[in-house]
Amino acid sequence: MTHYVPGLVVRADGVPAAVEELRLPEIGPGQVRVRIRAAGVCHSDLSMVNGTLRPPHPLVLGHEAAGEVVETGERVSRASAGDHVVLNWQPACRSCWFCDRGEVWLCSTSSGVAALENGMTVDGEPVHVTLGVGAFAGEVVVPENAVIPVPAELDFDLAALLGCAVLTGTGAVRNTAKVAPGDSVVVIGLGGVGLSVVTAARAAGAAQVIAVDLAETKKGLAEAAGATDFVVSSDTLSKDIRARTSGRGADHAFEAVGRAATIRAAWRATRRGGRVTVVGMGAADDMVQLSALDIFSSARTLQTSVYGQADPDLEIPALARDVVAGTLNLSHLITDRITLADVPAAFDRMARGEGARSVVVL
Ligand SMILES: [Zn+2]
Ligand SMILES: [Zn+2]
Repeated sequence: MTHYVPGLVVRADGVPAAVEELRLPEIGPGQVRVRIRAAGVCHSDLSMVNGTLRPPHPLVLGHEAAGEVVETGERVSRASAGDHVVLNWQPACRSCWFCDRGEVWLCSTSSGVAALENGMTVDGEPVHVTLGVGAFAGEVVVPENAVIPVPAELDFDLAALLGCAVLTGTGAVRNTAKVAPGDSVVVIGLGGVGLSVVTAARAAGAAQVIAVDLAETKKGLAEAAGATDFVVSSDTLSKDIRARTSGRGADHAFEAVGRAATIRAAWRATRRGGRVTVVGMGAADDMVQLSALDIFSSARTLQTSVYGQADPDLEIPALARDVVAGTLNLSHLITDRITLADVPAAFDRMARGEGARSVVVL
């Protein structure tokens, strides 16, 4: 049976995304059909429309989502109809060289796939789906390893955040940077990921979490997430951070923007021997310049964290249990609940640096 669902589609570079009817692909062996119940507006979706990335068109946006399984194909064992699931945009194949080493976030069968062909427009033109998901749609058809069952008590809007911002931010703190009790931490960029880094750093026992953003209006969000300090970013940022860290700079800096300028700012905000963890995804032509002498003598480590360097199949259910148990509070991350048609306005808010997460509720 053919299923038609609404989806938020970009037709070409520079053309605003619009809701249109889509024809879902037939469900195949090993696939599941999921009714999307909530989908977060992530910076990577904005990157698909603002020229940072160059995806193929037509493109269905959205990748941070949760929903309910409505149909399973042959040989599906991971989920059944009625299960509540979080979508995983980097599902591990469990058989490539990286997966064999346990580095499933680098799985070679899915990494680097910005947009996969899946489904059609009503006119029969093939459509692409963002990060293999295309979650700004009524329903999606995905391989079974792209769904992760979570408890039914977990609200769909919070569950959606686990699929990108929260896993990315939490994993960057725990798995990549390995923030330790007593550490000082700087977080630059307070979107959904940056605020998740703040929360995870405090939970890891950081004594000081200095939240940095261009917008003074982020102060309340930073404090709700657990920041001990808030600094409005300016040309004197490294001085401001040093003034708050005994003149040394922080043990850790997290860059959650994805720009060369903020990566350099994060570098300068850390102490000698400190660690800089880049979580934001930037553009191919935005070059980071560091001097060879500085790299050597500062003894800092510059590293990135892809999808929180996590195994989502293990860590998303664990985060879900923490939310249900009340030990992980994410409600402050959602500042706007919107419809599919409101997503372009949410992109504008994101570009202006307003709010935290907008979540499409379906
Ligand atoms: Zn994302
Ligand atoms: Zn793999």
